[in-house]
Amino acid sequence: MKVELVSHTPDPERTVAMAVRTCHAPEVPKGKMNDVQITRLLKLVRNLGHESVFEHVSFTFAIDGVSRALTHQLVRHRIASFSQQSQRYVKLEHFSFVMPPLVKNKPDAAKLFEDTMKGLAVTYGKLADMGIPMEDARYVLPNAAESSIVVTMNARSLFNFFELRSCLKAQWEIRKLSNLMLKKVTEVAPSIFEGAGPACKSKGVCPENDTKCKFYPGD
Ligand SMILES: Cc1cc2nc3c(=O)[nH]c(=O)nc-3n(C[C@H](O)[C@H](O)[C@H](O)COP(=O)(O)OP(=O)(O)OC[C@H]3O[C@@H](n4cnc5c(N)ncnc54)[C@H](O)[C@@H]3O)c2cc1C
Repeated sequence: MKVELVSHTPDPERTVAMAVRTCHAPEVPKGKMNDVQITRLLKLVRNLGHESVFEHVSFTFAIDGVSRALTHQLVRHRIASFSQQSQRYVKLEHFSFVMPPLVKNKPDAAKLFEDTMKGLAVTYGKLADMGIPMEDARYVLPNAAESSIVVTMNARSLFNFFELRSCLKAQWEIRKLSNLMLKKVTEVAPSIFEGAGPACKSKGVCPENDTKCKFYPGD
């Protein structure tokens, strides 16, 4: 899995702070705030639940080497924009695939998995040789087939994404992606994403009500 934060709104923390201050100012405030004031203000609005101000800043990620099983979950997040590698236009005769760690760790399961992938690649190639268009040959491609996708989300939508997908109950591959994305946005906007993460961390509640989870926040 390769995840790159390729671009984001310039000066995201100052942009959100300006939006917050506008709510109580006679005109959009142009005066400079220092970093301490910005951090304090962002924390305050986050705690108040005044989250719409975080919609003014967005983050674009380039994601490679993830499975179609992952991207199918990712694109369910409607408050986001996506551009994904097309299986209609990109020939995937020798497709790469993602093998889940639990399969990889069992030699006989790994061999069965790998042989199945090779068999599907051969079938795909044979269908193509028979003149079947890629948009139809792709029906034999598996959930494991690797894909590439560009995703843009605003900070508020990312809060929701991290709550759902960084949770220990989330599926392992999208959880890995979510944690990598969280790390990258925290590097460029620490005051915005301070406290972001699974609901047990960001809200102190467990939507899964999993009392056995090591992070269960309790009563
Ligand atoms: C652990 C887990 C298991 C899951 N299992 C399944 C499953 O078995 N089957 C399945 O189909 N999906 C499943 N999902 C996907 C889930 O139902 C959501 O589609 C996905 O997580 C996107 O979340 P979202 O709707 O909050 O995000 P977004 O689509 O980005 O929406 C963000 C927020 O905007 C608001 N919103 C967006 N659209 C609307 C709307 N039309 N009306 C009102 N409010 C809206 C909501 O507050 C929403 O939380 C699962 C997700 C998780 C995390």
